[in-house]
Amino acid sequence: MISGRFLSRLVSAVMAGPRPVVLSGPSGAGKSTLLKKLLKEYEGVFGFSVSHTTRSPRPGEVNGKDYHFVTREDMQCGIDGGDFIEHAVFSGNMYGTSKAAVQAVQAQNQICILDIDMQGVRNIKKTELNPIYISIHPPTVQILEKRLRDRNTESEESLSKRLRAAIEDLEISKEPGLFDRIIVNDDLEEAYAKLKDSLKEEIAAVQTCRDS
Ligand code: ADP
Ligand code: 5GP
Repeated sequence: MISGRFLSRLVSAVMAGPRPVVLSGPSGAGKSTLLKKLLKEYEGVFGFSVSHTTRSPRPGEVNGKDYHFVTREDMQCGIDGGDFIEHAVFSGNMYGTSKAAVQAVQAQNQICILDIDMQGVRNIKKTELNPIYISIHPPTVQILEKRLRDRNTESEESLSKRLRAAIEDLEISKEPGLFDRIIVNDDLEEAYAKLKDSLKEEIAAVQTCRDS
């Protein structure tokens, strides 16, 4: 049976394109891991909003796919020129979502996924984007630290900055109404199942539009 909620989401998906999804949560909580699984399983349904950043690429990261890696001068120039929906400084580096990044995904009629920090969440709330807000949490801060250390991507200084931000953000994310759903990423497959469940109506709406 088709629910009224499903029908209204289907209508809005047809009218305005699918609602974007914001994935936030502490660095190391598993956002990229989860979103890569979504992009792979639902090829053509989701599209990633490729952010700009001034941080250096990690081994394996591809310019234009994981991020647009830019200089501070270029990033500031883009910000001053009004190219960004939101931007923030995180752990000493600049990050931002360009209008073009979101438009590129929406032009394909795909669900646009934004992986952004808490400042980004606050700033996106001031815009017309109207995404679904999901926060990915680690089971504990100790496990988060272990995951970040095992990922082997951060210097000691970056690690402590990220952990400090994590403790602050985990507290803020409890604020009522800030997130539509908080998913604790303990067992990866369970967390992924919860993420898919949170988005099942949007996924179905896009697939229905595509098939019709
Ligand atoms: P984020 O994008 O939020 O910074 P990542 O997706 O890079 O986090 O995950 C941080 C590290 O933790 C990665 O090395 C990843 O492989 C690992 N990881 C992610 N989810 C889990 C999980 N459920 N159990 C164990 N390790 C995980
Ligand atoms: P990382 O350096 O680990 O890739 O990302 C660090 C933090 O920056 C993460 O919390 C990530 O969600 C956030 N981030 C990535 N892109 C953006 C962006 O465009 N805007 C904002 N505000 N945060 C971002």
